[in-house]
Amino acid sequence: MKQDPQTLPKGALELVVLGAGDAFGSGGRNQPAFLIHLSAWAFLLDCGATTLVALKRFGLDPGAIGAILLSHLHGDHTAGIPFLFLQYQFLTRREEPLVIAGPPGTEERIEGLWGLMYKETRDMMERRFPVQYLELEPKKWTRIGPVEVFPRQVVHHHRKVAYGYQVKAGEKVLGYSGDTEWTDELIKLADGCDLFICESYRYERNLPFHMSYKDIQAHRSAFNCKRLLLTHLHADALAHIDDIQDEVAYDGMRILL
Ligand SMILES: [Zn+2]
Ligand SMILES: [Zn+2]
Repeated sequence: MKQDPQTLPKGALELVVLGAGDAFGSGGRNQPAFLIHLSAWAFLLDCGATTLVALKRFGLDPGAIGAILLSHLHGDHTAGIPFLFLQYQFLTRREEPLVIAGPPGTEERIEGLWGLMYKETRDMMERRFPVQYLELEPKKWTRIGPVEVFPRQVVHHHRKVAYGYQVKAGEKVLGYSGDTEWTDELIKLADGCDLFICESYRYERNLPFHMSYKDIQAHRSAFNCKRLLLTHLHADALAHIDDIQDEVAYDGMRILL
C-alpha cells in the first residue's frame, strides 16, 4: 500500500526500492536506487539511469528529493542524475538546493555527465535549480538535511574511492554496502542497523570488486543488523533466487522502519 510520507509516524522512515538490479538490467530490474522518506524530507541512495522512470512509475514526487547520496561513481549508480536535473530545469520548480554527496571526484563526474548528456541545456541556459556538492571524508559523520551519514571505504575500484554508508535518519539507522567485494568494513557498516542493504551480485562465482551470495552466507552470522536486504543481483544469482535464504529486494518494494 502506498504510504504518504506526511503520515509517517514521527521518527519512522519508509524505504522504496526504485532499482534492485545491476548495470546490465538483469531480470529486467532497474539500476540501483533507493528512496528514503522521513516525515518531511526524502533522499536517494544512489541514482541509476532508470531512477526518474521508477519515481514516476511508482507515483512518487521527484521534487521531494532533498539529497542524493552516492556510493561510488559508476554509471549504474549515477547516470540518473542528469534526468533529475532535466526534471528540475523544465518541470519541477525547486527552491531548496539539491545536495549531491559522495566520494572525492563526485562534482567533476556529475557535472561532466550533465554536460555530455545535455550540453546545450548546460551551456546555454541558466540553471534553474540550486545544487550543492559534498565530497565526503571516510569515517566522519556529516549532517545532510535532517540525517547524518558516515562513509566507510569499501573495495570496488583500483584507483577510485567507493563508499558504503551508515545513515542515522529519524530514530533509525540504515546501512548500505554500495558495490564491493568482501571486506570486514561490511560488519561495521551493518552493526546496529535497523536495515542493512547489501550487494550480493553473483550466486557463487567470485569476482574482484563484487560479492557472491556465498560470501554473504560465509559472514551472515557476523552481521549485527535487525534486517538484511540483498540487492544488485546478476542473472546467475536471480536464477538461484529460490536458494537464497535472505530477503532480496525488488523494484517497487516498500519497507516501513
Ligand atoms: Zn560499481
Ligand atoms: Zn553497480
